[in-house]
Amino acid sequence: MILRSRRARKWTIVVASALVLVVAAAVTLFEVSKSRTFQFFGTLVNRVETDQKIVALTFDDGPDPAGTHAILDTLREREVPATFFLIGRDIAAHPELARDIAEAGHEIGNHSFSHERMIGVTPAWVADEVEATDALIRVTTGRTGEILFRPPNGKKLFALPRYLAEHHRSTITWDVEPDSEGTPDAAAITTATVNQVRPGSIVLLHAMYGSREPTRQALGPILDQLTQRGYRFVTVSRLLAARR
Ligand SMILES: [Zn+2]
Repeated sequence: MILRSRRARKWTIVVASALVLVVAAAVTLFEVSKSRTFQFFGTLVNRVETDQKIVALTFDDGPDPAGTHAILDTLREREVPATFFLIGRDIAAHPELARDIAEAGHEIGNHSFSHERMIGVTPAWVADEVEATDALIRVTTGRTGEILFRPPNGKKLFALPRYLAEHHRSTITWDVEPDSEGTPDAAAITTATVNQVRPGSIVLLHAMYGSREPTRQALGPILDQLTQRGYRFVTVSRLLAARR
């Protein structure tokens, strides 16, 4: 009787330990999948080390008729270059908008084709998402050089970083994201951005779709206030080239 209960206790401990390990592994993988600064393979860049007061503004999603020209107008008025991580599906729907962005002198990056989460996916699916969008970017904008990649919602785990590493491409994330959480108004987006930017920052903004009016309103003040603080705006490729 004593022996049996001892054995039962032993098994309880073994099973409980195994469960703890499984949960710990799941939590670790979840944290890595959403980390802005770490991935298992290849290079991930969320900002660069530099002494210069330079910052890269990045716009995710689209192109979309609701936001493209409003963003381009604000950037043009202040002669500021930016980087647009566009979705393949949206480029296919609005190729003329992607062309307008490129012709205005901005950098265009790849933000996947479908904007579905790129975790727990096969290498073949990753290749389709990346390559189909690259092809659309090249055909519509005439871009010939390297195309930077940013995963939807910043999520990646095994297949995507591995694919990008094998193709000598970086994962670009960000260190400032003023409009990702909740529904901040334009003043809050402006204040958060201006307070958090430091030399070498990459700012993520969502200003494309109809619901993103607050970010579109914040864009002018963000540009003006950072300029007043001595910052200069560059594309992500230029920022990478300025690494110390
Ligand atoms: Zn996105």
